[in-house]
Amino acid sequence: LNPVYAGLGTTIFTTMSAMAAETGALNLGQGFPETDGFPEVREAAAKALIDRSNQYAPMKGQAALLEAVAEFYGRTQGLSLDPARNVLITSGATEALAAAVFSLISPGDEVIVFEPHYDAYAPLIERAGGVVVRVRLSPPDWRFTEAQLTEAFSRRTRMVMVTTPNNPTTRLIPTEDWALLARFCIEHQAYVVSDEVWEQVVFDGATHKGVLNVPGLETLGVKIGSAGKLFALTGWKVGFVCAHERLVSQMAKAHQFLTFSTPPMLQSAVAFGLGLPKSRFVEEVAALQRSRERWRAGLEAEGFRTLPSEGTYFLNIDLPGSGIALEGESFARRALKEAGVAVIPLDAFCAPGGDSLPVVRLCFAKSDATLDRGIERLTVAR
Ligand code: GLN
Repeated sequence: LNPVYAGLGTTIFTTMSAMAAETGALNLGQGFPETDGFPEVREAAAKALIDRSNQYAPMKGQAALLEAVAEFYGRTQGLSLDPARNVLITSGATEALAAAVFSLISPGDEVIVFEPHYDAYAPLIERAGGVVVRVRLSPPDWRFTEAQLTEAFSRRTRMVMVTTPNNPTTRLIPTEDWALLARFCIEHQAYVVSDEVWEQVVFDGATHKGVLNVPGLETLGVKIGSAGKLFALTGWKVGFVCAHERLVSQMAKAHQFLTFSTPPMLQSAVAFGLGLPKSRFVEEVAALQRSRERWRAGLEAEGFRTLPSEGTYFLNIDLPGSGIALEGESFARRALKEAGVAVIPLDAFCAPGGDSLPVVRLCFAKSDATLDRGIERLTVAR
């Protein structure tokens, strides 16, 4: 048995969702919308399923989707991408992460991650023989400093992994922090794998700034997006990689032996969806922002202290700030048992054995009725 997996449990999302199902708890843990997103995109998938070929799609992605991705990012983020050279379609962003790590680093290379970080990163790096170098961030800003980067970077640094908007912290990387990170990455010629799956779920009129928008990172940056979050269809698992041609062809070599290609009816539907007008996406974000407000107001009224939520489906509760003297995991256990609400402790996004992070993550991509029920129940856990 490979020791990387032998030492791991089941993901916190699966564990909490199973416990919620078992106990009948409200599942505000795993991040997924209560109702399926974009009906017109689902209809396009249904139509493609019946009317078009269901045989292998091209390995790097259907031409129509490659073009739609390049066009979408050109229009929404000002990127200039050649669909044939700078884009690769993967079976979800997680496959894109795997393809990046497997094809861009070698055993012994160091990869810097910012803790708390999405749970898939460290096992992928370790399985590829890489060494995970963690930079610990703290609430409420969750920003890295120059001193932290100076300590983390070394001769062996080959890659940095970032997430913006961030899951679980919800923060966007500010322009000046991008510039600081770019300075280190250029000096060390380190790739920047940027998980931007939440790029469209950004609140309060903020603008997402991704790795390919950062001067100097054009040839080092790997931008990863996902249809699941763009269209609130998290089960679809259609991911996009955008990067310099050299990196895309290298990652395609990993992708061809991971999943080879991605279901064609989903690719057709995503290509259609990416062409929808901006107003359609704005509408979705506005609805999510209203949910965030309802959720925040309800929690604060019950005495919970929440941290800023700049994007994603999540709002985090600061436990000590709320007068709760429990670690995240103990609070999560109590919330499940006594209040019937499943939440995710941020410790699940940190290396075991480190300092505990007394924050829990809750998903608000739910109906008003569910959110109100959640607030009512959580008062018991206080
Ligand atoms: N991205 C989702 C979350 O953060 C979980 C995905 C999964 O369950 N693997 O909740």
